[in-house]
Amino acid sequence: MEIAPGVFDLTPPTRGYLKGGYVHAFLIVHGSELILIDTLYDADAGVILDQIQRLGKNVRDIKHILMTHGHRAHLGGLAKLKELSGAPVYSHAWEADIVAGERKQQGVSLRPMKGIQAWPILFFGSLLGPLANHIPCPVDHLIDEGAQIGPVRVLHTPGHTPGHLAFYLPEQRTLFTGDAFVTWPLICPGWPNAMLNKKQTWQSLRRLAELDVEVIGGGHGAPITKDGGKILRDLSARGNV
Ligand SMILES: [Zn+2]
Ligand SMILES: [Zn+2]
Repeated sequence: MEIAPGVFDLTPPTRGYLKGGYVHAFLIVHGSELILIDTLYDADAGVILDQIQRLGKNVRDIKHILMTHGHRAHLGGLAKLKELSGAPVYSHAWEADIVAGERKQQGVSLRPMKGIQAWPILFFGSLLGPLANHIPCPVDHLIDEGAQIGPVRVLHTPGHTPGHLAFYLPEQRTLFTGDAFVTWPLICPGWPNAMLNKKQTWQSLRRLAELDVEVIGGGHGAPITKDGGKILRDLSARGNV
């Protein structure tokens, strides 16, 4: 689905791809080049390859693979897609050794929290199961706040994880938030149980809320295609940290 001009959500419609807690990946068409943001859950990258083909593109058109952070649900197809495309992989330094399989991702509490008892068991299943079980993939470029990759501006948004990145396309007023902001199972700044640093999470959200944004591609759940900035501002105003 095209969520902004030249920007595609690669995850089949909500309820169509349950894996990784409705995890999402995105593709930016920039001239003849493709820029991929995150890689969904499956190690064979089948869904992403299929979607690229449907768009009339070739996997070798992917010239950059940007990772929001080193959590399993976002890393699934990375090794395969790098192999097929030959594209360099970018991540924050703090996440890079996790992506490369040299360090396990930091554990998160799986205790049910107030308000999420009713969340589907899938929520826990998607976190519990194969936590460290992705195919390792070396990171080619370490990136941080202020980096620019083609039209994409890199924002450091710690909280969910210390090296979490968001990506911003000013021209399309489109923001890719990873797990700094999700819409499934509810609109929130990342899953409450999965915040490694709550204070930083809300600080990062407030920062994202200052951007000129219409469209938001979040890490889990359907993208927001209208009034994204207002939704971010309203949510950040509720933050009490
Ligand atoms: Zn995550
Ligand atoms: Zn996630």
